[in-house]
Amino acid sequence: MQRLSGIGVSPGIGVGRAVVLIQRAQVLRFSIASTNVDAEIARLDAARRRSAEQLDRIQGRLPSRDLGALFDAQRLMLDDPMLLPRAASIVSEQQVNAEWALQQVFDHLGAIFAAVEDPYLRERTGDLADVVGRLRMNLTPGGAGFRDVLCQCEAPCVLVADELPPSVAGQLDWTIFQAFITNAGSRTYHTAILARSLHVPAVVGLHDATDRIAPGTLIIVDGEEGTVCLDPPAEQVQRAMAIVDRVGSGFSRTSRTRTVRLKADTVAAHALAPLRTLDGVVIRVEANVGFSGEATFARSQGAEGIGLFRSELLLAGRPADELTEDLQYDVYRHLLEDMRPAPVTVRTFDIDEDQLATGEQQRDTLWVSGYEVPRSRLGLRSIRLTLKRRELLRTQLRALVRAARHGDLRVMFPFVSGVEELREARSVLAEAREEVSARGEVPSALGVGVMIEVPSAALTADLLAAECDFLTIGTNDLIQCCLAVDRTDERVSHLYEPLHPAILRLIRHVRRAAARGTVPLSVCGEMASDPAVLALLMGMGLVQFSMTPAAIPLARQVIQELDTRDLRAIAHRALKLHSAPEIEQLLTDALTTRRILERH
Ligand code: PEP
Ligand code: MG
Repeated sequence: MQRLSGIGVSPGIGVGRAVVLIQRAQVLRFSIASTNVDAEIARLDAARRRSAEQLDRIQGRLPSRDLGALFDAQRLMLDDPMLLPRAASIVSEQQVNAEWALQQVFDHLGAIFAAVEDPYLRERTGDLADVVGRLRMNLTPGGAGFRDVLCQCEAPCVLVADELPPSVAGQLDWTIFQAFITNAGSRTYHTAILARSLHVPAVVGLHDATDRIAPGTLIIVDGEEGTVCLDPPAEQVQRAMAIVDRVGSGFSRTSRTRTVRLKADTVAAHALAPLRTLDGVVIRVEANVGFSGEATFARSQGAEGIGLFRSELLLAGRPADELTEDLQYDVYRHLLEDMRPAPVTVRTFDIDEDQLATGEQQRDTLWVSGYEVPRSRLGLRSIRLTLKRRELLRTQLRALVRAARHGDLRVMFPFVSGVEELREARSVLAEAREEVSARGEVPSALGVGVMIEVPSAALTADLLAAECDFLTIGTNDLIQCCLAVDRTDERVSHLYEPLHPAILRLIRHVRRAAARGTVPLSVCGEMASDPAVLALLMGMGLVQFSMTPAAIPLARQVIQELDTRDLRAIAHRALKLHSAPEIEQLLTDALTTRRILERH
């Protein structure tokens, strides 16, 4: 048995056989039954035929024979016994899927090409990558991608991926996959957030799990402890299965303060009574959700509204033009109806170019280049993207102004960096209203807010507050942008530190700006779902939070045991400290003394 340790981001136990997904190269590895070997080899054969036909067509379309000859090498490779016949042997010898067999051949031949002295031969690596990319695409014809293949895996499985974008995770059948583990990631990784919403146990930040775990390996994932057992003994599997049967998935009670654990042992769902601290301060707790169906669960956990609806998940797995205004209108209306009379805040699409691309476009990129080229999260994303693709934003805003008559609806713009973007977004909102009015419908009023996620927005929060109805601090992005740490890059994710003095100062700055501008302010990043940090934020004067639904019962319980006068003194001291560990120690000591936290 082997044990790996990572970051447990979604609690619960999952047991199953490994299905390995190399998302960056779009390669999926899993073991197949001996009865499927022939069918898998037939897939390779069909892919060869389709690829040959496509190459013939490409050569025929080129204006000269000389240009067409550029593809001769690829045409020859397709029929080379070192390529597909070798992949077929691997399928039958190792009993693995065709994609993985092909990838092994590609890695092997690529290494041979790279080692040769002759520059002409070395350059053939590009042709090889191109041919293999084309074969990979043709292994799943008719638009079926690896996502469809994933849905054909036999339950129970555990997904082992280098990374798992939310758009893929959102589409998987989680009755097949009992858990997932990834090389990349942190607690605020979007897919971790999604895992908690879906109650799928998950461990991330394992660095090289996809290299270490062979497809078909039996795995136990403990999403609370952050551990992964490979090839566990039978008794351990039985114990884990018994827990799964008895408990299902639960929710975490672990605080980031590593030495302590919350004393609460049972956390009941609460009624929607206004929440008050010991000294009578009213605190509002709303939920972050990604699917409209989550609203009911959020309510049952004690959410007083939806503080963040991640609308971009509606685009997962479909081209943007399929998400029509009417379709969106229905989703927003249902959300409002499920939450009525509580408010719902919809964030406009927070998506980047790659996520917006349709499956077809992504595949084109893949087979031309062989590998996906990751784009920067600081590039064309969020409000920057939707202001460029105005019709996408206008359609969403039309759906929102129509849906607003069904309840208390607010819209907020993500990743805003200053007032100019806010003004431009507001002008698109005005256009959307006019378009709805021109059709004879009455657009309803809706509050407009800005997410403070970019340090420039935090530093100009007073200017933004003057031109909108509310501000929401998105600490997940604010931390990564302020500290220059990509939260999905496991090599630097340890530097992602919510308690960094710079973060606390930025939050204090925004809190003061919102108070002076008399606009409501909330915090919707994951930071607030950690009770120790929540206490600090309350001490800094924040009174409105939005968090993952599963974290709400505990947050409500803790809030009622706190006194903000006391917390203000703790926050005052915390803001004078020089480093995150010192702040963490202060919080741990203070909250343990007050019996909010307990030594573990
Ligand atoms: C945030 O950045 O804190 C936030 C809530 O948005 P995201 O969906 O990017 O985590
Ligand atoms: Mg964000």
